[in-house]
Amino acid sequence: MFSSLLVANRGEIACRVMRTAHRMGLRTIAVYSDVDAHAPHVAMADHAVRIGPAAPRESYLNIEAVIAAAKASGAEAVHPGYGFLSENAAFADACAKAGLVFVGPPASAIRAMGLKDAAKALMAKAKVPIVPGYHGDNQQDDHLAREAERIGYPVLIKAVAGGGGKGMRRVDDAGEFAAALQGAKREAQSAFGDARVLVEKYVERPRHIEIQVFADSHGNAVYLFERDCSLQRRHQKVIEEAPAPGMPANMRRAMGEAAVACAKAIGYQGAGTVEFIVDASRGLKSDAFYFMEMNTRLQVEHPVTEMITGLDLVEWQLRVAAGEKLPLKQSELKIHGHAVEARLYAEDPANGFLPSSGRLVRLKLPESAPHIRVDAGVVEGGEVSTFYDPMIAKVIGWDETRAGALSLLADALETAEVAGLRSNLAFLIATLRHKSFGDAEIDTNFIARHKSELIPGPGEVPEDALLLAALFTLSERRVRARTHSPWDIVDGWRVGTSQEEVMRFDAADGERTVLVKYLAHGFRLSVGSRAVEADVLREPDGSLTATIDGREIRARVLHIGGDLAVLLKGHTYTLSPFDPLEAAEHSDASAQDLVAPMPGKIIQVLVKAGDAVKRGQAVAILEAMKMEHTLAAQNDGVISELPWSAGDQVSEGAVIAKFTEAAA
Ligand code: ADP
Ligand code: ADP
Ligand code: MG
Repeated sequence: MFSSLLVANRGEIACRVMRTAHRMGLRTIAVYSDVDAHAPHVAMADHAVRIGPAAPRESYLNIEAVIAAAKASGAEAVHPGYGFLSENAAFADACAKAGLVFVGPPASAIRAMGLKDAAKALMAKAKVPIVPGYHGDNQQDDHLAREAERIGYPVLIKAVAGGGGKGMRRVDDAGEFAAALQGAKREAQSAFGDARVLVEKYVERPRHIEIQVFADSHGNAVYLFERDCSLQRRHQKVIEEAPAPGMPANMRRAMGEAAVACAKAIGYQGAGTVEFIVDASRGLKSDAFYFMEMNTRLQVEHPVTEMITGLDLVEWQLRVAAGEKLPLKQSELKIHGHAVEARLYAEDPANGFLPSSGRLVRLKLPESAPHIRVDAGVVEGGEVSTFYDPMIAKVIGWDETRAGALSLLADALETAEVAGLRSNLAFLIATLRHKSFGDAEIDTNFIARHKSELIPGPGEVPEDALLLAALFTLSERRVRARTHSPWDIVDGWRVGTSQEEVMRFDAADGERTVLVKYLAHGFRLSVGSRAVEADVLREPDGSLTATIDGREIRARVLHIGGDLAVLLKGHTYTLSPFDPLEAAEHSDASAQDLVAPMPGKIIQVLVKAGDAVKRGQAVAILEAMKMEHTLAAQNDGVISELPWSAGDQVSEGAVIAKFTEAAA
């Protein structure tokens, strides 16, 4: 076994590979671009080398820079992770030329599978079933249209050099073909620099079921069973599981053997995945699966396989790359239990799952537990940049049963908190808890079919979120009241105890109000016609425990800019407070200045510029909401400026008295 490993990747996969490498006693070397200088994978490595600017072409895809980093750091082997250079045959060649062990298949195997059309032709020869279609060289529009007609609609147009769902178009009838073809070619040209497409039968009720294979350099090859990756948006996976629900033993064997045949046909070594499209219109049948493509690398979703087999696939990769034999034979491999992976992405489900970028103001991932695994590559405060994949983390749950795994994973995700950018957290939870998903009524159209139940409308803010925003605001005042100003005394501070206050919030669905009544203990809060008794407690970690009509709710509320973000059960609701005290806080007055807590009229100014005043001393009287309020100094100090006089109308946040100094 080699003793040092350079990981030519970033994010969660770089961290995941290094975890195993460290356990095996290897020295690890990270590479990073400028924006990743403080990324977790850099911190984790024994040694790190800068390889260039943020743009992937100039760093993570720059073969010369990566090879130079390996040489400079004395690395003996290179693990490419997934994405980036992992399926780049030229990179595998460059490693070999530089005397580095490439942890992956031979360059020839990558080349054989690199183009979807050539791969399909090869598989047809190896008697692996393929989807009926046209994989030929003639790329004339009318020829392709005739082929589509021959195959029979619906058809799928795919980029020959494709990946990640780009350049893929479903076409339901001849009239749409020409336009779809142009779109697919354009997308393929810009994404892969290759406009060639293939046309194939669109499989009805398609399920994406793939087989994990492993081969060594001694002629051994095994399959580590299947993963069902049917839950997709935009032809890309978002939830994966193993084993596939409803998989008959004979079909598992048939698919496994086909996948091994595929690996053998191209002299494969290491970890690979053979992706099949399954026609599930008659349930899972051993004669209804078709080869789609082979991914000649470790897959994003490999943890579900690890959890049902108890194996470490990265360890297997390293052993095979070092020339060892596969650790186990086919007959020694067993499935135990069920595992489900959810990919947490910075993206907006309500907006076509478009990627989101920005700073992770808040990121709390579920705790790792015996049956919960968390693979992450970003931390709170980190940036999800537009340069790279917007995946934040993968969370994987395992249980003896599928139902158990689904609910364990959903429960774990409910403890996560993401704020600062849009994420699919709430969408993942809703999907994992969806009845039809629980019943395994799945195919690749599942998300599109159940969209309205899985994706909350962009504007909906539930009552609880509104109540939490109000309770948070009240709890903040309580803290301030304890620490300084008599102004902020919460309970009944506005004359008497029967006083009510209206809190206004701007939410995406319009203005929402909460009527607050102060009780001896806690508050009475009304939203619309519903009134509840509530109180709130701040936990030491900053989260809130609210009691609403006896119901306990744990949540977190954060100030983000001038807004409040309510983090509740995987949702993040944004509310803009229209609260006099809040507004005063965010005005540009300096800390000791006295500001108007609400809009009103100055009735009287009780001090003069140059006066020294004591904390709590009355400075002015403001008439607002049909009441008179005494504005008292928040601290000791000398008054330098009194911008307003009796009769003036002031807005909330207006500086009533400027202080020159705050006495000790
Ligand atoms: P899979 O079938 O495993 O989803 P994909 O071909 O879609 O395979 O890509 C796998 C993953 O690799 C993607 O989800 C993405 O995270 C990552 N990836 C692919 N290309 C890039 C790239 N150019 N930069 C960064 N990450 C990439
Ligand atoms: P990628 O390179 O993005 O991984 P794939 O060829 O593996 O592209 O296909 C991605 C997804 O597209 C599949 O998981 C499946 O949902 C859908 N798909 C691909 N081929 C077909 C087909 N013939 N019929 C129906 N759906 C298909
Ligand atoms: Mg694929």
